Amino acid sequence: MESPERELELRGDALRDLVGAALERIVRHIDTLPAQPASDLDGAEAVAAAFDEPLPEAGAPAEALLDRIFGAAVTKGFNTAGPGYLAYIPGGGLPHAAVADLVAGAVNRYVGVYTVAPALARIEATVIRWLRDLAGFPAGASGYLATGGSLANFSAVVTARAERLPEDFLRGTLYVSDQGHHSIAKAARLAGFPAERVRAVESDERSRVRLDRLQAAVDEDRRRGLEPFLVVGNAGTTNTGAVDDLGALADLAARERLWFHVDAAYGGCFLLTERGRRALAGIERADTVVLDPHKGLFLPYGTGAILARDGRALARAHGGAAEYLPSLGDDPERIDFCRISPELSRGFRGLRVWLPLMMHGAQAFRRALDEKLDLARLACAELRRLDGLEIVAGPELSVVAFRLAPRPDLGLVADALDAANERLLAAVNARRRVFLSGTRLRGRFTLRICVLSFRTHEDRVHAALDDIRASIPAALGASYPPTAPPESTFR
Ligand SMILES: *Cc1c(COP(=O)(O)O)cnc(C)c1O
Repeated sequence: MESPERELELRGDALRDLVGAALERIVRHIDTLPAQPASDLDGAEAVAAAFDEPLPEAGAPAEALLDRIFGAAVTKGFNTAGPGYLAYIPGGGLPHAAVADLVAGAVNRYVGVYTVAPALARIEATVIRWLRDLAGFPAGASGYLATGGSLANFSAVVTARAERLPEDFLRGTLYVSDQGHHSIAKAARLAGFPAERVRAVESDERSRVRLDRLQAAVDEDRRRGLEPFLVVGNAGTTNTGAVDDLGALADLAARERLWFHVDAAYGGCFLLTERGRRALAGIERADTVVLDPHKGLFLPYGTGAILARDGRALARAHGGAAEYLPSLGDDPERIDFCRISPELSRGFRGLRVWLPLMMHGAQAFRRALDEKLDLARLACAELRRLDGLEIVAGPELSVVAFRLAPRPDLGLVADALDAANERLLAAVNARRRVFLSGTRLRGRFTLRICVLSFRTHEDRVHAALDDIRASIPAALGASYPPTAPPESTFR
């Protein structure tokens, strides 16, 4: 037994026991993921309420605490790590990255300033260089790992503001399509812009920004004496995975002297694949790009990335200095992350990206991402064959949006059709083999399948299709089936 004043210095067998106890539960959890329900909220509120407890004065044994976590605390909710998670934008959570987090936390070296941990800071800088090369950015580019795409988008908006607007920036206007992620408008608000300075530009039938509307909005704002400064291109929208015409946006941005930011939080990692590179052509002309390793590189939540074509722009927007800090350099090879990001103290995020990529190489990720593109195409082709469904958006990347088609004979139009589609979603999810989410496209409730988890394979997509097929009657409700359709000799 350690003396009380050393009680917190966990080491030796005590440390081994704690890690061992956690490891045993982690392995059991991970190995049973495919058999776990895709969602389970039964009694979740009561489980959650049990954690609303006062700070204990004395401690409790680790095994019991871990059991509380790995029991209902983990399992009650959406199974975001499981193969059936096809909702929102999945990622899955590579366990390698979790091990890297354990290492990073255990050594607790500080990577915010290069000279404090040169090799570890270099690991993170190398990860950034890999991502930079992926985006097709030149040597002078730089970037950092943020906690996610929202924070990275915020940093991009702040950088664009600092580079293109005067200190008194309230006349600045920015442009993103009506399919843009809400984190752009949120970033603008956090960066100090009134809501009416954010233009949601109409998108076309394939959910890509309409360039004529964008140009008209910029012209109109200039006429009104406002200062257009930023256009955000989507490289994989959350609703349908749509990719704006990035080359045309780059041209427009150059002509209008706008900062060109590409939100590739979802789509960016597909640049590892041939099809992804084709879909995202033009991204290399952006001023800043955001991509999310916790989506397309399957990392656990907590890692986004921002890249800037001119790395010094990040320093100009985020830089700071203080007497009490170690000396900071200007050498782009020796990045002080605290100078190019909003954070000072931060975790060593580079390791969680580095370890899985080094262990498996780019090819394993390329193969996995290609598999996701194939699975989305498979899902789309099979959904097309289901009677009564319509594809609202085919897979540009790995999202398929679909819904029950209007049935005037059943009274299924407008709100009644929306309600039926909501019932369809609920019925599919109630089967608990997959978990899908819905959205609204052009005002209409729409279901979507997003295949992105490294754990999702063909068997699970077939399970999703079977569950959708089986749920259609329940969704159509009492009015289904209508009077038997006439036997047709035509097919
Ligand atoms: C997920 C996503 C974001 C936000 O990223 P977080 O990592 O969730 O903060 C921004 N834009 C797009 C297109 C996204 O898919």
